[in-house]
Amino acid sequence: MKVVAIIPAAGLGTRMASAPGARGKKPTASKQFTELGGTPILIHTLRKFVASPAVSEIYIALRENEIEGFRARLEKEAKDVLRKKIHLVEGGEHRQQSVSNAINSISAAGDDIVLVHDAVRPFVTEEIIRDVILAAQKYGAAIAGLPAVDTVKQVDRTSDGALVTATLPRERVVLAQTPQGFRYDVLKKAFDEATADGFLGTDEASLVERSGHEVAVVMGSPRNIKITAPADMELAEFFLKR
Ligand code: C5P
Repeated sequence: MKVVAIIPAAGLGTRMASAPGARGKKPTASKQFTELGGTPILIHTLRKFVASPAVSEIYIALRENEIEGFRARLEKEAKDVLRKKIHLVEGGEHRQQSVSNAINSISAAGDDIVLVHDAVRPFVTEEIIRDVILAAQKYGAAIAGLPAVDTVKQVDRTSDGALVTATLPRERVVLAQTPQGFRYDVLKKAFDEATADGFLGTDEASLVERSGHEVAVVMGSPRNIKITAPADMELAEFFLKR
């Protein structure tokens, strides 16, 4: 049984478009390449998976025009990452397509575990990675998640703003994080079905749920933030210093 990690890192990061570069000089196009403490967020994230003893290979989905540059950058600035087998694959228009391209490049047995983790969540811990792997082995599918602390409303979006249509029972709500881990056969089947049905989800678990497989939740962390908007960088710099 082997564990393979997929890191989708082919987003355009339009919500980060106004973020200044590391030294405040130029706008940064892709959030995964925004520098945190002088190192691209993606490299911080990769180091967590390189340090995880169970993970044997890492597939990174990148925009086509960033593949060669990133390979050179790893050679030059992050040789330690190359201790693990790193595969660079081309991403797609949506996150799901980026992950799908990586899945299609993997050679794995049905009971091998595939982890998918956002490039922009550099504060994942070895413990969370290990817990997701163990739960994925046990249940076939597992995600890191956080219990909701705020009251969660369902809304209708109108031209005037949002209108509440329901209050969801908070104790039944979990906020999904990554990593999300799956037996290879479970994930492959779910992706094949989603592709055939034209279904587009915002995480891998939603594809697995619709294919009828149960998904277990393990405790994530409030620090395992997804760096999405410029304001997240301040929090990220703070976490990095700690
Ligand atoms: O855009 P979103 O916030 O969903 O991005 C989550 C992760 O998916 C990021 O690491 C981003 O680089 C990646 N992504 C991708 N291919 C896309 C869009 C997003 O690999 N087409």
